[in-house]
Amino acid sequence: MSCEKAESLLHGYLDGELDAVRAVEFERHARGCPDCTRELDAQQSLRARLRDADLYAPAPPSLRRNIRERLEPRPDEGAASAPRPGRWRWLAAAAVVTLLATVPWLAFRETRQGTSEGTLAAAALDAHLRSLQLGHLTDVVSTDAHTVKPWFEGKLSYAPPVVDLAAEGFPLIGGRLDVLEGRTIAALVYARRKHVVSVFVWPAENAPETAPRSSVRQGYAWIHWSHAGMRYWVVSDVAPAELEQLARLLRR
Ligand SMILES: [Zn+2]
Repeated sequence: MSCEKAESLLHGYLDGELDAVRAVEFERHARGCPDCTRELDAQQSLRARLRDADLYAPAPPSLRRNIRERLEPRPDEGAASAPRPGRWRWLAAAAVVTLLATVPWLAFRETRQGTSEGTLAAAALDAHLRSLQLGHLTDVVSTDAHTVKPWFEGKLSYAPPVVDLAAEGFPLIGGRLDVLEGRTIAALVYARRKHVVSVFVWPAENAPETAPRSSVRQGYAWIHWSHAGMRYWVVSDVAPAELEQLARLLRR
């Protein structure tokens, strides 16, 4: 990968928008390229500073009132009256003001709650669906944990625990690299009858042990927990009770 290409992927990488293959290619280039490493570090520290600084100031209520007053027709302006030229300029200005007041806040909320449950649930579901749509279920196809586990070696900075649960009704299909929140992580793929289950695993980084918490939305179920130094996020369209069963098996 060229530096130019790496530079064009940098923001996508930091936003967790690259697919696993491109994210890995980017990381591989950045590791061996001092220039790109420097740029990556600079962007990461800028983002960290933005996250830590309290930059959001709510727009005062008077601004909303002001804009509304400008937008609502005055009594002397009937609906049939032609808009005066100056009015459209005001509408445009008001729209810009509203955007300026809203957009950074939305962007900021995303950054601040980067690790929140809702954000991670959405990211995990995205990654799961992406793998189904792109036909990128697995990078390594194997029902053998002893093949899948070594496959991750050298591709990740940690060793994900891999177990086969075929006897318990969750046969291992394989594994792949995936991207959650801008970091490349292990995704283990299990089958449950005709359904696919993605199990995302990455180091918990001092996070306390947490009991499994599950949620359901639009036909998909999630369950997540931290255990033995690893965080687990599991997504599938199987019944929530089945994911709870899988969580119990993975926590043994
Ligand atoms: Zn470079």
